[in-house]
Amino acid sequence: MRGNEHYDVVIIGSGPGGGTMAWRLAQTGKRILLLERGDYLPRERENWDSQAVFIDARYQAKETWYGADGKSFRPGLHYFVGGNSKVYGGVLLRLRERDFGEIQHPDGISPAWPLGYDVFEPYYQRAEELYYVHGLRGEDPTEPPSKKPYAYPPITHEARIQELFDGLKREGHHPFHLPVGILLDERDGKALPHSACIRCDAFDGYPCMTNGKADAQIVCVDPTLRAYPNLTLLTNSYVDKLTTDSEGRRISGVNVLRGGEQTTYSGDIVIVACGALSSALLMLRSGNGDHPNGLANGSGQVGRNYMRHNNAVLIAISRTPNPTKFQKTLGLNDFYFGSDDWEFPLGHIQMVGKSDGVQIEGEGLPGFLQWFPEMPFDWLAKHSLDFWLTSEDLPLPENRIYYDKDRITLDLTPTNMEGQRRLREKLRVLCGKLDVHPHLFERTLYLGQNVPIGGTAHQAGTMRFGTDPSQSVLDLNCRAHEIDNLYVTDAGFFPSIGAVNPTLTIIANALRVGDHIAERLR
Ligand SMILES: Cc1cc2nc3c(=O)[nH]c(=O)nc-3n(C[C@H](O)[C@H](O)[C@H](O)COP(=O)(O)OP(=O)(O)OC[C@H]3O[C@@H](n4cnc5c(N)ncnc54)[C@H](O)[C@@H]3O)c2cc1C
Ligand code: SF4
Repeated sequence: MRGNEHYDVVIIGSGPGGGTMAWRLAQTGKRILLLERGDYLPRERENWDSQAVFIDARYQAKETWYGADGKSFRPGLHYFVGGNSKVYGGVLLRLRERDFGEIQHPDGISPAWPLGYDVFEPYYQRAEELYYVHGLRGEDPTEPPSKKPYAYPPITHEARIQELFDGLKREGHHPFHLPVGILLDERDGKALPHSACIRCDAFDGYPCMTNGKADAQIVCVDPTLRAYPNLTLLTNSYVDKLTTDSEGRRISGVNVLRGGEQTTYSGDIVIVACGALSSALLMLRSGNGDHPNGLANGSGQVGRNYMRHNNAVLIAISRTPNPTKFQKTLGLNDFYFGSDDWEFPLGHIQMVGKSDGVQIEGEGLPGFLQWFPEMPFDWLAKHSLDFWLTSEDLPLPENRIYYDKDRITLDLTPTNMEGQRRLREKLRVLCGKLDVHPHLFERTLYLGQNVPIGGTAHQAGTMRFGTDPSQSVLDLNCRAHEIDNLYVTDAGFFPSIGAVNPTLTIIANALRVGDHIAERLR
């Protein structure tokens, strides 16, 4: 084992939660160590190859986890500098203001957050600016209040999506321009020659070969490494365990496995941002005499209350061809909190990256088209409109991640599936009115293999924050109740997940906690 090197701050995980924190804290001038278990994601032709990305799952972690039924699955995780944001869709939405309060669902209550939207609002603004969010305020009636417009203009719709947008408006709906984090400079719907993003058809789920996606590596980690010599990044550095001092009140060591060697680092402050599932696992495997059930787990809540959204990717077949390349520009929240025939929330609809023939072939042909004489994958792809539907799931204590001896086990009982079913039905009916065949079929490969349990993209809630140490793991600054120098800044702190993509909230919270830690370091 190698000796103990000391830093002011050690950050574990370089995704949006850890990468944003590195960006924020490097500005303090303190010595910061950023530890990442993965390497840089290679820039290569396969980045944009549907077969490699979705069918061969080239960039997905090669890990085997287990469900409570003992069946194995491969979690939809990506271990790289930048974390899962290397493949994310870049849709960066704020939670709705009401999401911060208690919301009744048919299967139970989505609990209130201990801090209101007003606390997060200025950090949402900063997060949107930092991650190049392109959007337009004022179109979506569920949009929470904001003090400033988006710093970057909305991404223009291509012709078929503009038709859909106009059609939805004619039907009395409120489609809106999706807020997307992207390094795009466009004019008349075309990327300008210097723009990093070229508006291609491989946005969502693919890594970006031209570094045009506003992910944590491109936006935070790399620029900070260039500008601040006080930040050190170590890749291929898996944090195996955290150790505590003789009283069990401070993290005294961060044990790292790197190239077959074990090294220990220490920090005045240790920030864990491994992703909600992996952070809980790190706590659980770091248990010791003072923390017999896992670090900071006197409440027994570490690993519990796991949420991941009820997600579906649905393909509808347009009667006219859909030659759109960059499809991820339209969202609809008209059923977010309910509908005329149901009092409970249904969820959120957005466009997802355009499918191609290879992906559709990988899914298998939908039953209702079996009568086609030949397998018309390319024809289907040319006519497809691809939608992403998200409904809120609830933080059940029984939904949890834990070690069963050496096996990583994830218990998952889905909740609120009725809201998701009704949302699909609303979309199906809308399609019938909008020159689209009223059949929807599922594209599961985007969500990762072995969905629902393997669909870990929106992991949240395994170490929730709160004021009561018997019911929560973290305090309001996302510091562990039981360990003075330990913070967690991934989505583990979420008490509920709402029905919009989680990452802007992770980034905003990292900036909020970053301000608190910067103050503490002064
Ligand atoms: C296909 C896909 C599409 C998505 N699209 C969207 C979207 O459009 N909008 C949105 O808001 N969200 C989206 N998401 C979710 C988004 O990627 C996550 O919410 C976000 O990346 C979470 O950030 P994080 O920093 O908490 O965790 P992660 O991004 O998971 O980062 C954690 C990092 O910690 C590292 N790590 C883990 N364990 C250890 C360890 N023991 N030692 C050292 N390092 C470790 C990991 O390698 C990883 O780099 C998508 C996800 C996927 C997979
Ligand atoms: S659309 Fe832009 S950001 Fe997305 S993969 Fe293509 S070039 Fe990269």
